[in-house]
Amino acid sequence: MGRLDGKVALISGSASGLGAAEAELFAREGAHVVVGDIQIEAGQSVVGQITAAGGAAAFTPLDVTSAKSWQQAVRFTVERFGRLTTLVNNAGIFRMGGVRTTTPETWSDVIAVNQTGTLLGMQAAAPELLKAGGAAIVNIASIYAITPSPDALSYHASKSAVRMMSRAAALEFARQGIRVNTILPGRIDTPIAGNIAPEQLAAVNARIPMGWTGDPIDIAHGVLYFASDDARYVTGAELIIDGGWYA
Ligand code: NAD
Repeated sequence: MGRLDGKVALISGSASGLGAAEAELFAREGAHVVVGDIQIEAGQSVVGQITAAGGAAAFTPLDVTSAKSWQQAVRFTVERFGRLTTLVNNAGIFRMGGVRTTTPETWSDVIAVNQTGTLLGMQAAAPELLKAGGAAIVNIASIYAITPSPDALSYHASKSAVRMMSRAAALEFARQGIRVNTILPGRIDTPIAGNIAPEQLAAVNARIPMGWTGDPIDIAHGVLYFASDDARYVTGAELIIDGGWYA
């Protein structure tokens, strides 16, 4: 028996990195998974890997900055798998820039994907999640929602907003069968974390108390917990998965 048997999950940004690991783990645990992303070929490839391993998955194009795109993705999920029980707002982008160097374009791009994209996802999914009952939303913030750096202002702003939006939504839906929880990943080895030279990586890892950069599966296990009925009494909660960075 899988921990997500009977669940139908829509995961944004799941063509790559953390989202792909979440999609694969969810399918292994028995969920029907919809991979939504702007990267079409990569998303289809994740679905191919899941179905080749015997899981149930489908791809839908999804641009999280568009309410219409979200509505299409939710409709696709319900048409394909009958209902929607689980939303993971995972899509995100990172741009450098401090007070003096953040351009208006950088600011609006990062806020549009990370912050507005999370709101639009919850808005589009809520009617179906309310119908499903026993539903869950998991929002992916970042350790950068609670700890600053000098050169990622738009990212900090967007991820701290995700954190508070999750807690507010948890209260809104607490008596209506939707739990809303947040994961705060530390540094994890995905394209967003950037390809860095070995000596830089050694310096980065030296800053992490456990001494190493996490793997996407380390985050996927936390998302699985919040998505599963094991967490049936957990809402408005946050799980930091960061090798001790924030300790
Ligand atoms: P990634 O770049 O591998 O994956 C991000 C995915 O989001 C990609 O597949 C990309 O195509 C998709 N995406 C981007 N814009 C989109 C849009 N408009 N609509 C739909 N999909 C879109 O990065 P990742 O590390 O897997 O990041 C996943 C989440 O984890 C992000 O929210 C990120 O901010 C967060 N996070 C990552 C780290 C890390 O170190 N990797 C740390 C903290 C938080």
